[in-house]
Amino acid sequence: MNNISRKNFLIKAGSALAVSSFGFPNIITPKKKEKLGVALVGLGNYATNWLAPGLLETEHCELRGIVTGSPEKIPVWQERYGIPDGNVYNYQTMHKVADNDDIDVVYIVLPNHMHAEYSIIGAKAGKHVWCEKPMAMDEAECQAMIDAANKNRVQLTIGYRMQHEPNTQTIIRYGKEQTYGAITKMESGGGFSGNFEEGAWRTFAAKGGGALYDMGVYPINAFRYSSGMEPVAVKGRLTTERTEMFPDVDEAAVFELKFPGGLKAYGECSFAEGMNYLDIECTDGWYNLRPFLSYSGVRGETSSGTQLPPDPAHQQARQMDNDALAIKEGTPPIVPGEDGLADVRIVRAIMKSSDKGEEWVEV
Ligand code: NAD
Repeated sequence: MNNISRKNFLIKAGSALAVSSFGFPNIITPKKKEKLGVALVGLGNYATNWLAPGLLETEHCELRGIVTGSPEKIPVWQERYGIPDGNVYNYQTMHKVADNDDIDVVYIVLPNHMHAEYSIIGAKAGKHVWCEKPMAMDEAECQAMIDAANKNRVQLTIGYRMQHEPNTQTIIRYGKEQTYGAITKMESGGGFSGNFEEGAWRTFAAKGGGALYDMGVYPINAFRYSSGMEPVAVKGRLTTERTEMFPDVDEAAVFELKFPGGLKAYGECSFAEGMNYLDIECTDGWYNLRPFLSYSGVRGETSSGTQLPPDPAHQQARQMDNDALAIKEGTPPIVPGEDGLADVRIVRAIMKSSDKGEEWVEV
């Protein structure tokens, strides 16, 4: 279907074109739907154990379709989630979601090197796209995803859970309102002690593996949302001790971000060591989130004794409901594609810095 006939089709099907402020591109909103239909693309660990269960709790969207290359998973998922035969696709047939009015959103939960290709297939099929972090392999891929979404008038949203989490939103507000004064220093680390099986995609550079892509984006995104600023230069060092497990990717990384005005942020990430903290120092005090990236139990405290207790809601359900609501109402999503692109740019610059012996690299 070309763009014009697709548009007519959607209007006939009860949709309308939304006009939004903020210069956000107009998108096609399925106005009459109570719940948007989501198709999960890639049925691995995160889709199986977090997103699909989350979609049982959502108010504004529900699981209606799957895209998988593993035929043995199909009957299990169909039975568990009541997915009809017509809403089951594989990677070769996924583009046919264009003709399926049950599906409004495709959620890309594939290895990182596949994010761009399948996000673009989804956008070209006229479906809104939610894509997991890190957005893609490099800036060019990220930009191609953004362009495809704009051209096809669909939303593109990155699965950064934390920006939907209430305590994280509180510290974002502290930063904006300078509740504890101006930020003077940020420190954050994300990591776990992992043993990967041979062949695991996270151990291959060509598949977007490595600690920096996988875990480093959490501190990087946190520095940006905590300060509301973009760095001007970065430096870093990627390291690997267990070279037999990680033949061509980083097992850990340390990095530094320099912001306008001289503010510095110090980050670390690892596949060898557990770490999960975000500490912010300000002119008039401090606050932290420890842990700051867990699926539940994110909590914090401040220098004035304020406690930020964990929020009990299902994080992924809240994220997908916020993202579905943005589509239904034609408002900008909390985490647009541009946010994912900014992180990938920083990741690539840190890699470049490491290659150059930890030189500062402008971003
Ligand atoms: P996973 O390995 O468990 O799942 C990946 C799925 O992709 C599997 O079902 C696999 O069969 C399929 N696949 C298709 N083609 C493949 C190929 N060529 N090579 C390898 N697998 C292929 O991974 P996961 O942990 O579910 O991660 C998937 C995505 O979700 C990643 O981008 C990851 O960064 C992201 N993720 C995000 C969070 C979060 O908190 N936001 C948490 C975990 C994972």
